[in-house]
Amino acid sequence: MKATGSRGAATMILSLSLMAACATTDTGRRQLKLLPSSELQAMGNQAFAEMKTKQPIEEDPRTNAYVQCIATALARQVSRDPSAWQLAVFDEPSANAFALPGGNIGVHTGILDVARTPDQLAAVVGHEMAHVTQEHANERVSQAFLAQGGLAAASAAMGKGGRDREIVLAALGLGAQIGILMPFGRTQETEADVLGLEYMARAGFDPRQALDLWRNMEEMAEGGQVPEFLSTHPSHQRRIQTLEAHMDSALATYKKARAAGNIPNCERAPERIGARSQNAAPFSRHASERVGTR
Ligand SMILES: [Zn+2]
Repeated sequence: MKATGSRGAATMILSLSLMAACATTDTGRRQLKLLPSSELQAMGNQAFAEMKTKQPIEEDPRTNAYVQCIATALARQVSRDPSAWQLAVFDEPSANAFALPGGNIGVHTGILDVARTPDQLAAVVGHEMAHVTQEHANERVSQAFLAQGGLAAASAAMGKGGRDREIVLAALGLGAQIGILMPFGRTQETEADVLGLEYMARAGFDPRQALDLWRNMEEMAEGGQVPEFLSTHPSHQRRIQTLEAHMDSALATYKKARAAGNIPNCERAPERIGARSQNAAPFSRHASERVGTR
């Protein structure tokens, strides 16, 4: 137990942080962000760079160009500097994609079996971009501070330098894995769905294909192969309902975008030969475990 004086100081630091940290997302939802955005971005960049050295990168230039084409079309419509986004296509058979703070988007080649058209892949990438633009990782960590670490951890993280802050994050099991090990919450998933739908429509991708994407995922799951992406993105029925509720508005945006000349032309690469994926199996298993752990 700490002395009253220091606890009082910690509470004051936290109160100040809280006052500075309440933000409003693009859907009008209030959110808590305790950590400086720049810090999470730096951690996200570091984690992404590390992943790129440890996990097999897709070598086929056509597949890379295809995914990049979709990401670029979306990035132009998302309210950030389009060049601030980093994309990596990993040669991984698991059907997954993820986002890290700092504008880092990772796409596994396995998701191309589920997101079978450019529009469906745009739904995946748009969803991931929304996690980044709304700073969901920051919110998640901030919630964890309050829930697990309480006042002491939060104030220690806020009151000291970067190194101490990383130690606190590591103690909470977050470390460099932010946004990967820690699944986003239901509210954040819904928000990413709504904004992802908006982003794809603005870029000229057919928002109705977001529904097809989730049906493909469900089909795959019913066939006994639960896509990694689905396992970390719960509540299928609710997701479909949310997308349907926003479809009219997304379709209006889509038609306007097409009329304005936003007609993405991203050609899907021919089917890949599976041999290379087998060579990558030990890495893949490792990566899946990391991504799937809760
Ligand atoms: Zn998500």
